[in-house]
Amino acid sequence: MYYFGRALDLDLSSGEQKMYDVPERIIKEYVGGKGLGARILYDELEPGVDPLSPLNVLIFVTGPLTSTIAPTSGRWAVVTKSPHTGVFLDSQVGGHFGAALRRAGVDVLIVRGKAESPVYIYVENGKAELRDAGHLWGKGIIGTEDELKRIHPGCKVGSIGPAGEHLVTFSMIGFDYFRQAGRGGAGAVMGSKNLKAVVVKPGGEVKYYDKSAMQSIVSRLLELIRENSVLKQRTEIGTPMWVKMANDGGFLPTRNFSKGVYECYEGVSGEAMKQRIWVKNKACYGCPIACGKLTRVREGKYKGNEVEGPEYETVALLGSNCEIRQIESVAFLNRVCDDLGLDTISAGGVLGFAMECYERGLLKDTDGLQLHFGNEEAAAKLLMKIAYQDGIGKIFSRGVRQAAREIGQGSDKFAIHVKGLELPGVEPRGSWGMALAFATADRGGCHQRAWTPTAELKGLLPRFSTEQVAKFIRETQNERSVCFSLVLCDFVPFTPADFSELLFDATGISLSMEEYMVTGERIWNLTRMFNVREGITRKDDTLPQRIMEEPSPEGPAKGKVISKEILDEMLDEYYGLSGWDKNGIPKDETLERLKLI
Ligand code: SF4
Repeated sequence: MYYFGRALDLDLSSGEQKMYDVPERIIKEYVGGKGLGARILYDELEPGVDPLSPLNVLIFVTGPLTSTIAPTSGRWAVVTKSPHTGVFLDSQVGGHFGAALRRAGVDVLIVRGKAESPVYIYVENGKAELRDAGHLWGKGIIGTEDELKRIHPGCKVGSIGPAGEHLVTFSMIGFDYFRQAGRGGAGAVMGSKNLKAVVVKPGGEVKYYDKSAMQSIVSRLLELIRENSVLKQRTEIGTPMWVKMANDGGFLPTRNFSKGVYECYEGVSGEAMKQRIWVKNKACYGCPIACGKLTRVREGKYKGNEVEGPEYETVALLGSNCEIRQIESVAFLNRVCDDLGLDTISAGGVLGFAMECYERGLLKDTDGLQLHFGNEEAAAKLLMKIAYQDGIGKIFSRGVRQAAREIGQGSDKFAIHVKGLELPGVEPRGSWGMALAFATADRGGCHQRAWTPTAELKGLLPRFSTEQVAKFIRETQNERSVCFSLVLCDFVPFTPADFSELLFDATGISLSMEEYMVTGERIWNLTRMFNVREGITRKDDTLPQRIMEEPSPEGPAKGKVISKEILDEMLDEYYGLSGWDKNGIPKDETLERLKLI
């Protein structure tokens, strides 16, 4: 045993559970977190399984560094088949829940089947109990967590809100009140299983292969964090530090991604957040950076509104993308989403799309909502209707791809998604690197598999060019796959050698730098193979029509499009470097080299 790999497999249909050790070979080849979750998901699911059926599995998976003394060790992952996209989904989560799960004696919790009536899972000391959740069904995430913490003092809670209960395909799971498994609809998977919440009681200690060696590398890494100027900004302003940079760079999504500059960006900037609503910093378990910001609105109609955030992505999608002008309003919509259980990124994408449909006169009946850009009251009401699948909300409850199919009238041209997942806070005509990152990300339009704006703004990657992009994206996707398997936070400035040393001290698993990168490549190819099995090919590695055909109207990216020719050039190079064929399918020799066949 590598000091990691205790799996608890719980069938909600029968109530049976079994505890087992994940085989050492699997831990060595897939590490934990994303990699281990992907391996389990691939092996458990037949292709074509309905993500909202009892046959789908929901995997809460920590990594060998979760809950250790490594900085940012509160990170962990939720893995499942997405009901929003129909493909692989991993959501990287912060907060304190994952660390508590490991300390409750469970490294991986696999949930299958469907309970007959609403239940919650209580985990303590390596065992799970199913308890009645009838009294919680219908409650928001905040009220659910309040109630479960009253019943179980000292426990950590993950739960769904009305959106997950009503199977909204972009509903999330909320942990520790304001940390989420946000993207891709893991909340609806929970709802489909009649599972309202998971409660864990931390008790035990995490064991190490060599704790004193880890203590010494951790001292060095903490120093690295303290000296890093970008992380100082994250501590000071958090991720909204990107609002001004994205606007100056011409890639802040605005007015449903019709442009990349927002004339009112100052009202929703990180500086506005800090000056007007910031209360205190919040950190995930074991994190010295504390990029989270607890905020409270001090005056006006949203006075008293409290939320952790808004983070950059939330500002970009619920703010500029919907032309909402004030940070207080964004914070209000953020809290509405967090309590209903809606992913703020997809929610902002859906609202922007709905507003454009409304302004173009494509919506016949909006239940009286005047969905103009900037109308925050109408936005909040539409979010409520979506969460409860009520009236007009039903059309938008499965995201922009499905809504465009229902609305028709050419609305697919401005439905902003990749593989069904609404794009996050980068307008790709202003960041060609992110265009390829979005087109090839394993869970659909996602910013976490590779991030190029920093390199583009610093001149390390040529802007508005295909040069070096494919290599950069491929290497980052592979390298991040290991980071998300260990699991540590995306934001730490550690090298693969640092990560590898931490892994050795925690588990005794020794990976050379070459083996480390091959491990990442193996994980990335496994998620690709999961998607290929579901029918994904080159045709799906694409971008929204608006991005490919409408020149950006203003700002630094004025006149730019990512045409089909540009995207094809990047894809050809990316597939070639990856050992995939022209259609985006990993070749047999690649799979053999990675021990995937
Ligand atoms: S940097 Fe932010 S997201 Fe990452 S672990 Fe720390 S508080 Fe959590």
